[in-house]
Amino acid sequence: MRFVKLAAAEKVPALGMGTWTMGERRAARNAELASLRRGIELGMGLIDTAEMYGEGAAETLVGEAIAGHREQVFLVSKVYPHNATRRGTIDACERSLARLATDRIDLYLLHWRGSVPFAETIEAFERLQRDGKIRYWGVSNLDPADMAELCSTPGGQRVAANQVLYNLTRRGIEWDLLPWCGARRIPVMAYSPVEQAGLLADRRLLDLARKIGKPPAQIALAWVLSRDNVIAIPKAAQRAHVEENFGALECTLETGTLAELDAIFPPPRRARPLEML
Ligand code: NDP
Repeated sequence: MRFVKLAAAEKVPALGMGTWTMGERRAARNAELASLRRGIELGMGLIDTAEMYGEGAAETLVGEAIAGHREQVFLVSKVYPHNATRRGTIDACERSLARLATDRIDLYLLHWRGSVPFAETIEAFERLQRDGKIRYWGVSNLDPADMAELCSTPGGQRVAANQVLYNLTRRGIEWDLLPWCGARRIPVMAYSPVEQAGLLADRRLLDLARKIGKPPAQIALAWVLSRDNVIAIPKAAQRAHVEENFGALECTLETGTLAELDAIFPPPRRARPLEML
């Protein structure tokens, strides 16, 4: 496994697993559990979930998957912006902990910016931290202006990560957010790293994959992992996909391949609004 340093210098796996849409269909449950458990076994024990996913169903599934493996897992969950008040954050976290069947969340994120002032959410995060309910807190879907405002709010500099949309087809953050976070050693968590599988059907990526003899998912993930300070959290409900994704750690992209990827999926040439799913 490769690791990325969190702000507090703790190392976390650079390749983890997402859980959006998991836990919502009874028929898929066993396959989803097997996938998450296989990922943990392989060392991809950074698991990303949220109270929003299936209105708690994903957290419940994650709780079941990590039972007996809690020490191997770095657990990430998120609070809805409308719950992120001084009291609401605490209550939402308690509900998440109950569904996750654990006593602590390792990294608790504000899912996106809503109308609650940052100061209030930070206060609640810090209380949860003092009480041992969360170990670190962070944010998601915050652009550079939001990040600057957050960091100028008392306590805001302790933000441990920003989770945003990032993959070969969504490179806008390379213009501003990625260097901004990099300069402050705030890890960026890349969500939808294979563009919800859409990228894997791209003819140009498929041609390149055939040429270098690697599956397209490995190339897409290896590309994300080649960036400094970035964590990738692909979601895979199929065990075979988890195993293939794990192979991205061994997939070294040569300079020529990186140049071809830049030609197909060009980096930004100007600032763009932060994209969100
Ligand atoms: P991903 O880019 O991770 O794509 C998931 C899709 O790709 C699934 O259909 C999956 O199939 C498929 N897939 C994964 N690996 C392979 C493979 N090796 N070969 C073929 N297909 C593959 O999209 P997500 O939107 O799920 O993003 C990942 C995670 O990021 C989410 O699950 C969630 O945890 C987080 N997220 C956070 C957001 C935020 O606002 N903070 C927003 C969106 C996502 P299958 O499941 O059948 O294996």
